[in-house]
Amino acid sequence: MALPSPTGNWIGVVLFVLIAVAGLTLFGMRAGELITLLVKARREDRTDHVDDRIGQFFLVVLGQSGVLRDPIPGIAHFFTFWGFIIIQFGLLNLMLRAFNVSLPFFGDNHGFAVALDAFIIFVTIALVVFAFRRAVIRPKQLSSFLHGPWDGFIILGLILAILVTLALVEIFDYAASDGASWSLFGAWFGPSVSGLGTDTNLILFRIFWFIHILIFFGFLVYLPRSKHLHLMATPFNVFFSSYAPKGALPLMENLEEREDYGVSKPEQFTWKQLLDGYACTECGRCNTVCPATNTGKPLFPKEIILGVKEALFVQSNQILGENTLWSGLGVAGVKADETAREKEAHHEPMVGGIITNDALWACTTCRACMEICPVSIEHVPTIVDMRRHLVMEESDFPTEVTSLFNNIERNFNPWEISNDTRAQWAAGLDIPLMSENPDADVLYWVGCMGSFDQRNKKVATAVAKILKAANVNFAILGPEEWCTGDPARRIGNEYLWQMMAQQNIETLDSYGFNRTDAHNGLNGHAAGNGVAGVASKHRTILTACPHCFNTIKNEYPQLGGDYEVVHHTVFIDRLLTDEKITLPEDFDERKLTYHDPCYIGRYNDVYDEPRRVLTVLNTNGITEMRRNRNKSFCCGGGGGRAWMEEKIGKRVNQTRVNEALETGAEVLAAACPFCITMFDDGIKGVEAEDKMQIEDISEIVAQAIEAQQEQESSARI
Ligand code: SF4
Ligand code: SF4
Repeated sequence: MALPSPTGNWIGVVLFVLIAVAGLTLFGMRAGELITLLVKARREDRTDHVDDRIGQFFLVVLGQSGVLRDPIPGIAHFFTFWGFIIIQFGLLNLMLRAFNVSLPFFGDNHGFAVALDAFIIFVTIALVVFAFRRAVIRPKQLSSFLHGPWDGFIILGLILAILVTLALVEIFDYAASDGASWSLFGAWFGPSVSGLGTDTNLILFRIFWFIHILIFFGFLVYLPRSKHLHLMATPFNVFFSSYAPKGALPLMENLEEREDYGVSKPEQFTWKQLLDGYACTECGRCNTVCPATNTGKPLFPKEIILGVKEALFVQSNQILGENTLWSGLGVAGVKADETAREKEAHHEPMVGGIITNDALWACTTCRACMEICPVSIEHVPTIVDMRRHLVMEESDFPTEVTSLFNNIERNFNPWEISNDTRAQWAAGLDIPLMSENPDADVLYWVGCMGSFDQRNKKVATAVAKILKAANVNFAILGPEEWCTGDPARRIGNEYLWQMMAQQNIETLDSYGFNRTDAHNGLNGHAAGNGVAGVASKHRTILTACPHCFNTIKNEYPQLGGDYEVVHHTVFIDRLLTDEKITLPEDFDERKLTYHDPCYIGRYNDVYDEPRRVLTVLNTNGITEMRRNRNKSFCCGGGGGRAWMEEKIGKRVNQTRVNEALETGAEVLAAACPFCITMFDDGIKGVEAEDKMQIEDISEIVAQAIEAQQEQESSARI
């Protein structure tokens, strides 16, 4: 038996064509507007690493690996995503029936028909889970200042309506065709409606077919105007995610000749930063891990991304030109529901209005938000771009940062201390300067904290002891070492970072550390240091500071400085593996926990080495904190926050110290001078000095080496 026509006659076909053309036109206009906004944004090349991008697309988009990290909504999302794709084929097939054709393979395939109906059931269950979560559980992370809750319910309702009408179409199609148009729902429920008669079933089939088509095109028109725009944008956002080193902020080129410094208007962002806004699913996972959000600061990473999108849409008519086709037809900014905050946003600038300065200054650049985001959104560069505008265009930054900038610029370190005294911590330790030992295999980059901060000088001393115990041929730069510029860059002072970086690169290149041949033209040494003629070889820069490590390793290449840089935890682990040092096993009997610093952990994936070193030394191994490894909670000192006062909410360092105390550990092992400073302060803040002490891994190792040496010398006696 021939399958019944859903349109009946040419009038039905014309009606269908009109609905389809109207839906596709309205959809296309909005899509055109959205794409044009991206085209007009700042350019950025994201076409490298094509193989990796395709792999990531399969894993994150088709495999839904990002959302599946959160099992219940993740599984529901998985079925919705795949259901959506499979239902599209069913839908296309149904539409083609208007012209008496069907899709090859899918058209008359019982296997596909079963899969289609199975997904109708799965997606319906998923919708119930989503609705229950939104209406009953109401996790705080799902709400937004810039959107009311209705948008989500409208989308859930539209998807449900598509599913229900599809099932009804199948049932009456089956009954009207006497089972010729086979489907699972048809076979289950068709016989029970066949008593209505073929004519009635045919009419009902056509009515539900038109309703189904109308709802589908309504959904298509509404989708790109709603928060569910992410359904269209996410695959692209994942595909175009960054393959630059995670720790590298984008370089601001041509500093002397630029017209703008940083971003104050949405159109100054790159197209990828704007695409981030389109792709945000508003899941709020980033809020749940943000140390600022969690300690009561006015920073919600999700709202930063949505704020940029909001500012873009508010400005879209101006960006596109008032007289464009889009704005003329009023398709920009159609919203399901508008919150009071969103209405205010129409009259506010992006930076300092929709996105407050306090929110921007609260960020520790810990990268927890980027790590957890299921759709590869890049919050930190966006925040730093807006900080750059505040610092370099407005001179509007926390007052306490002024002295930091001045000191770095004048003294090449964050304090009012002459850089000539940089090597004083090493007095009496018999540590050569690079100018005295230009052949050194290892340059120990001490960093400002290790050089000048009383507490961290002890760490510098411990590192030097380890290097000596391992007979490493090393030297330090002393006054030739300048601040790497990391805090300045993260606060937004790109100019100062570049100034510091260029000088340090010149110094490092002059000693032949650059791996790039072009920089080793003088066989490893440039004129100016009184050294010459040392054969070029790859040598290592070692540092105990994750911030120095990250910026030299990942950011100095932007200015031509390409070095082998190793964090001291990795270096010590290598010394142990190569048996350059031997440590008394189970030397440390104290209960110990370890804090992953953001700038070696999340930014550089150094998780195992510090743990291996500590495990060798400690009888009990490591008692992990609730949040560890890539989920570690920031100490509060990154992103220049160590140099700013914390006036709002709870203190981040105390929050983390309390987590460490929950483990019952006596020692909080650290691997970053900023973490040590923040935690020393945090321990005092929670009055736990008698319960826990902070020690750098190098200090624990140095103690073990000393104990070993003592044992050996007493054995000799
Ligand atoms: S980088 Fe860290 S502090 Fe900044 S927004 Fe992301 S999670 Fe929050
Ligand atoms: S930025 Fe990412 S993690 Fe945050 S709400 Fe959007 S999709 Fe979720």
